[in-house]
Formats: sequence, C-alpha cells, structure tokens
Amino acid sequence: MSDLKIINARVIDLRFPTSREQIGSDAVNVDPDYSAAYCILETDHGPNGYGLTFTLGRGTELCVEALRYLSHFAVGRTLSSITDDLGAFYRLLTSDSQFRWLGPEKGVIHLATGALINAVWDLYARVEGKPLWKLLADMDAEEIVRAIDFRYITDALTRDEALDLLNQRKAGMDARLAQLQKTGHPAYTTSVGWFGFSDEKIVRLADEALAQGWTHFKLKVGGEAQDDLRRARLVRREIGEHNKLMVDANQKWDIGEAIERTRMLSDVNLWWMEEPTSPDDILGHARIRREVPEVRIATGEHCHNRVMFKQFMQANAIDVCQIDSCRLAGVNENLAVMLMAAKFNIPVCPHAGGVGLCEFVQHLSAFDFLRVSTTLEDRVTEFVDHLHEHFVDPVRIRNAHYVLPDKPGYSGEIYPETLQDYNYPHGRFWRDA
Ligand SMILES: [Mg+2]
Repeated sequence: MSDLKIINARVIDLRFPTSREQIGSDAVNVDPDYSAAYCILETDHGPNGYGLTFTLGRGTELCVEALRYLSHFAVGRTLSSITDDLGAFYRLLTSDSQFRWLGPEKGVIHLATGALINAVWDLYARVEGKPLWKLLADMDAEEIVRAIDFRYITDALTRDEALDLLNQRKAGMDARLAQLQKTGHPAYTTSVGWFGFSDEKIVRLADEALAQGWTHFKLKVGGEAQDDLRRARLVRREIGEHNKLMVDANQKWDIGEAIERTRMLSDVNLWWMEEPTSPDDILGHARIRREVPEVRIATGEHCHNRVMFKQFMQANAIDVCQIDSCRLAGVNENLAVMLMAAKFNIPVCPHAGGVGLCEFVQHLSAFDFLRVSTTLEDRVTEFVDHLHEHFVDPVRIRNAHYVLPDKPGYSGEIYPETLQDYNYPHGRFWRDA
C-alpha cells in the first residue's frame, strides 16, 4: 500500500450510562458512566485509525478538547513520517512548549495523548495487516526501543539495557506464541464484585463465574470494615481456597488505615490488595507493603506516567504493576513500563474494563509474554464483561483466558451507530434520556 496521509481527525465525546446499574462502582468512583474521548484518524486512502482514552463521564469534554488540539500534530502527515520515528512523535506530543505546562505528561493532556497515539498504532497495524501484538512482536529490538522516550528513566533502565533484554528474550518466542494460540492469555474477572452489588448478587455472580471456568476473582472494598470482611468471606466461601481472590480499595484509605484494613482482609488469603491509598503516594505504598508483607500490593491504573512507575519500582513499593493502555500515553509509554517491570522482575497485570481497555490490553499482555517477560507466572489480565458489543473486533474469552486477537489493528474500532447514539450530548441516547 502506498504511503497513507492522515487528512482529518474526528474526535467524539462518547458516554455510556453504566451508572444506572452500578456497573463499575467502587468505594471512590460511585457512579461511573463509562466514557471515552474517541479519535478516528481518516486517511486519503486505505484504512482509518481508531483510538480512545477512557474516562468516567463528566469531564470527558476536557479530554476531547485536548485531543482536538493534539490531533493537529498528526493531520497532514503521512503515516510513515510518524512511524519511521515513533519516539519522536511521542516527544512531539508531550513537549509542546506551552501545552506541556498543563501536565507535564499527566492528567487530561496525557490521557488525550494516549488516545491519539493509540489511534496511530491502530492505523500502523492495519496498514501492516497485523494485530497490534504481532506488529510489536515482529519488530526488531531497535525499532521497539526507538518508540520509547527514555527521558527521565535512564537511571532505572537505559536504552542499551532495554535492547539487550529484548534481544536476549526473543529466544523461544515461537513456542510462547504456540502456547498463546492454544490457551490464550490468563485473565481474571472483576465483574462479580462491584461495590454497589448486594451480597446475593455477588454470590450469584461468583457462582456463575466459577461455572464459566474463572479462577481469579476481584472484589471491590473500601466500605465499612465489617462489610468488606463479610463480602470478602462470602466470595472466598463461594470460590474455595484453591482459587485466587484479590481486593481493590480504589484509593480509599490513608496509610494507617490502609495498613490496618489490608491486615484485616489478609484473613481471607488475598492474592493482592489494589490501590489501597493515593495513587501518587509511592512511599506510602512502600510502607504498606513493608508492614503487611503477607499481602502483595498492586497499583498502576492511576499511575500517570513512566516516571512514577519507575519510582514505585525503585522504592520497592509494588508487587504487581498494573499498566493502563490509556492512562499512560498509549503504546509507546506502556512499552517503557513493561521493560522496566521486566528489569525489576515485577509481574505486569494490566488494568482493564471501562470501555475499550480490555480490547487494548490483550495486545499488550500478549506482547509482554512473547518478547518481554517471557513467562505467564503470576500474570493475569483484568477482564470486565461490559460494552464489548459496541466493538467491531471485541475481545473473546475462552475458559478464563483472552483468545489471541487475529484481525489487523488494535481492536479499538467502535460501530458507527454506537458513536452516533452515545455521542454526548447530541446522540439519540442522551437527547432522549
Ligand atoms: Mg482497580
């Protein structure tokens, strides 16, 4: 295919009314309407590129505006002028001398950067005729490393170390690919234990999930201490001792309380405690981890860039690295964090759910196994069973594993009718609501 030119970026404010059924509810985010700032890169010929960043409803318009601004850096360019140096494109988006003041590399503008970069990678993979995981897995170590901005992380991982790691770990990729094609990538379910669900509903959903073959279950906590413990014991009773139970406090507690509550919940044999406190409190996480050594500490879905992740790792503050395909600025920065995690020997268990996150992270997890971590031990990728019907190439789960995607792209394309109906505030759904 001759070189495509990006001639337009359509940016859409997309919102789903999930709060009405308490889907996605937790101790802090009590009424999420799963939403996205959505981006379509239209080209002069050939496929379009589809990307998004995940939001919770109100405020999506801020991401939409930031994304509109940033998309000017892509429109008018040929795809190859971007993909020839993906690291330079990342640096361009994150270094705009005035816009950068709003971050840098965090918050609204970083979320928007993620949407645009994800759209570029989707387009790249479509043009190459490969699912994103395969595009990445087939790349030379040099090409992968060129996509990464090493600024601010060379004290933890240098470019040469990343190259060596990728080169050394390429061995055995064919066998790992055969394994993924056969069994898929291990997943866990968060769908059974949303904060707003009743005890009866949690028990019923846990039973159903067990029957479907799930082995790893996550429950939302952060309510009254006795309620949390009761709910955790209920789930533990339903799933038995041999299955894994994780809990997620979604940043609810101060450090002292987080230590106390993690200790209390360790009674049900937790596989991890997720987001016990502020996502920015690196030393706080380290202290919780030190003082409750029997429970592994997980965080990352609100870890706003590679520099924060670097410090969590350097400070021995986390046991589980929960990358987010959109909170970090798209594929490039996720590559940086996966490589750092490999160096620090910390398992990557991506955050997913919301809208489109499962579709994205399945590619990142597959790549991580094929080229970076090379192991599935202690690796599970989050799965939440909502909104997949709106995607042209939705995730497929078989026996609690993500089936390896096989269509070209990054799986983020949403049906045009959905984009129309759930467009905020003018789409049919919101207009008539
Ligand atoms: Mg979480």
